[in-house]
Amino acid sequence: MKDTHKHQGLRNQLVKIISEKGITDKNVLKAIAAVPRHLFMDSGFVDFAYQDKAFPIAADQTISQPYTVAFQTQLLEVKPNQKILEIGTGSGYQTAVLIEMDAKVYTIERQQELFKKTKLFLPKLNYKPKKMVFGDGYKGLVNEAPFDGIIVTAGAPFVPNALLSQLKIGGKLVIPIGDDVQIMTLFVRTSEKDFEKHELGQFRFVPMLKERN
Ligand code: SAH
Repeated sequence: MKDTHKHQGLRNQLVKIISEKGITDKNVLKAIAAVPRHLFMDSGFVDFAYQDKAFPIAADQTISQPYTVAFQTQLLEVKPNQKILEIGTGSGYQTAVLIEMDAKVYTIERQQELFKKTKLFLPKLNYKPKKMVFGDGYKGLVNEAPFDGIIVTAGAPFVPNALLSQLKIGGKLVIPIGDDVQIMTLFVRTSEKDFEKHELGQFRFVPMLKERN
């Protein structure tokens, strides 16, 4: 598991590409510049790790496109020590980006194979989530709530009420909603009962599924 000057150079180019696409949050760009994405990829794809593209990982899932990871993370406006819940651990790349920003990360994955693999892998790079759970992201993590932010990294057919109810007042839920194509949607909890909703353009994700595998 090597991270070389060459990889750092490729990451710096990637940061340039995503900032030209509109990512402005310095802390997000710093995190993308720091996380060795090539180590999160399957061996057949490592040479492409610093292209701004999604790639296949185990269990028919994907590691999200860096621009998408940056876009969602920027919407969360992560501050150090905030509690962030991630739905869809996958490769752990998004998890690592959040940990680079000093968030306390709780993450849920429903594919047993990916859950096991990523749980072993992240600590090897010294990325230590607060909690990694094999479970159903539709339910959130009621025992750890409320959260400053919740990020869903799979395409959701609708917004799960459980996730809205696990936000702090002022907390943010970033969730791509839709079937074939998703609209990136930001919900901000403004009071016990009220939420602001913002729609921020089209993206494509693997579907958020019910039940565990
Ligand atoms: N954040 C990941 C993206 C992985 S793709 C990364 O950076 O690599 C989306 C992930 O969501 C997949 O791993 C998929 O298995 C998971 N997923 C799908 N439905 C889910 C659910 N209901 N609960 C938790 N995870 C789910």
